[in-house]
Amino acid sequence: MRNVVIIGSGCAGNTAAIYTARANLEPLVIEGLEAGGQLTLTTDVENFPGFPEGIMGPELVENMKKQAQRFGAEFKPGDVTKVDLSSRPFKLWIGENEVETKALIVASGASARWLGLETEQKLIGHGVSSCATCDGFFFSGMPVTVIGGGDSAMEEATFLTKFATEVSIVHRRDDFRASKIMLDRARKNEKIKWVTGAVVEEVLGVEEGEVTGLRLKSANNGEAWDHETKALFLAIGHIPNTKIFKGQLDLDKEGYVVSHGGARTNIEGVFHAGDVQDKVYRQAITASGCGCMAAIEAERFLSDED
Ligand code: NAP
Repeated sequence: MRNVVIIGSGCAGNTAAIYTARANLEPLVIEGLEAGGQLTLTTDVENFPGFPEGIMGPELVENMKKQAQRFGAEFKPGDVTKVDLSSRPFKLWIGENEVETKALIVASGASARWLGLETEQKLIGHGVSSCATCDGFFFSGMPVTVIGGGDSAMEEATFLTKFATEVSIVHRRDDFRASKIMLDRARKNEKIKWVTGAVVEEVLGVEEGEVTGLRLKSANNGEAWDHETKALFLAIGHIPNTKIFKGQLDLDKEGYVVSHGGARTNIEGVFHAGDVQDKVYRQAITASGCGCMAAIEAERFLSDED
């Protein structure tokens, strides 16, 4: 029987582990399929406070893990495949292995949606990014491209105009899903160029080791052409990792955990932290902050129970 189990080992899960371990709760962290979370897909992180020279994403998350281990947190590789939250203690399964816990912190995150091209996957961290806030600065004075037609694409493109010489929005349809206000704001920005009815066929630059352009294809007549750009920002949505909680935790229509105030979910003793609930900020520092909140609430819940 565990006091607290944390599902996920990104910034949210690892911060929750530091706090619950320092509260002598001996947390168990189940790392998940993408151990370390989305930071493992980035290179330099320059906006996490406390690192004036910046830090590599994988190193930052590894440091958090070591910090949690120093206070007694246990990390277990593997993925939670099933949960039973209908009564306490809660039950979790990692494959065949069953774990029981008095409190649960859900920090299973969200995964950025990718196009799924081999050339795209090879250039992640070398011009291909799913986070303009994290990586936009590196492309100061260069032309960049955003893929997508939703609010994230408009927001990220507008943000990127602060650094880039030109931001192209490439969208597969002529109509946009983005809200009128966000679309209008982007349309008024002269640095934004629009390429509609086009899909990315290949990301160019694998041999050079950095993005040099895109091969685009018209969705209407199949015509292909090369588009010069130094970076590709995917803004085609995120997928919250909440499949195993369906029917047990309150989820919104996109699958994100619904907050019941603070870090609480609809089930007493189950707390949320990070991108599994947050579709607005999605930053390492906000995920860490939420991990801290969830840990403090779990600790209070357990001491009230005792
Ligand atoms: P989204 O609304 O789901 O939009 C995703 C966009 O990516 C769509 O335009 C979609 O094209 C395109 N897309 C999806 N798969 C694709 C693929 N394989 N290839 C090419 N294009 C693809 O996602 P989001 O923009 O991340 O927004 C998610 C939620 O957060 C929304 O509710 C949004 O309003 C909210 N949000 C709000 C703000 C804000 O208010 N400040 C900022 C960001 C996000 P189609 O249109 O053709 O399907």
